[in-house]
Amino acid sequence: MELQYLGTAAAEGWPALFCSCDICKRARRTGGKELRTRTQALLDETILIDFPPDTYTHALQYTLQLGKLRHLLVTHSHMDHFFPVELIHRHEHFGHGAQGMLHVYGNEAVEKAFYDAVLIDRFRVHPLDDAVRFVTVKPFEDFMADGYHIIPVPADHDPREVCLIYIIEKDGTCMLYGHDTGMNLSKEAWECIFSHSYDLVSLDATMGTKQINGYHMGLADDLAFVKLLEEHGCVGQHTVKVINHFSHNGEMSHEQLDAFAKEHGMLAAYDGMKVRFENEQS
Ligand SMILES: [Zn+2]
Ligand SMILES: [Zn+2]
Ligand SMILES: [Zn+2]
Repeated sequence: MELQYLGTAAAEGWPALFCSCDICKRARRTGGKELRTRTQALLDETILIDFPPDTYTHALQYTLQLGKLRHLLVTHSHMDHFFPVELIHRHEHFGHGAQGMLHVYGNEAVEKAFYDAVLIDRFRVHPLDDAVRFVTVKPFEDFMADGYHIIPVPADHDPREVCLIYIIEKDGTCMLYGHDTGMNLSKEAWECIFSHSYDLVSLDATMGTKQINGYHMGLADDLAFVKLLEEHGCVGQHTVKVINHFSHNGEMSHEQLDAFAKEHGMLAAYDGMKVRFENEQS
């Protein structure tokens, strides 16, 4: 499989829209990998994960053929992961040649945000019935999308909704997409996570050098999370371990995150990064 990180920042972006902290000033000055748009990833050019306001920018930057895309997996309704009003543009009036149906998978809060955005008066003349279909997903209720077996696992994030992280497998290759979440997962969630072997794990690193009790993870949590996976035999030498979803409030530059990741056998994601991974046997 190949995962492309289209955006790697938390909600406020990096540099943050209205911020003049040292990290943001440095990012504006340095550019390159120090600039981050909101979190989004694309698996094998087939499964899009999350739909931030930067989706349009990503489509331009990486020449994505979003009209061909049939599957969008959404983790939760926070605006950096789901900016649904943009989906109206898949209607044939705006999206000429968009192929078939785009399936949007998400929890009930994502579903409400979707309908609140696309059923507004201005768009009622362009119903999405033939272009976008919402599919409500629930924790541990696995489903298939274009040959990919997807298992939603409840995250430790905003308690106002059932935020989800995802286990995705195909042809014996398996990944864990763990954004946004803390480490206070339910017993059932850990059991589900521990019952798989991963070729790639992508972990929330929002807090950087800091640590909070749940909601997001920092670098110390990422190390602890990987250690747990190791203890349960879920990761091996070949497993690609990525830290992602960064905030300037974590008080580290990309250069520093990259150095930390290298020291611990991980990769610090940056916008545009592509990672190939496969089952040990293949
Ligand atoms: Zn987020
Ligand atoms: Zn800042
Ligand atoms: Zn969030």
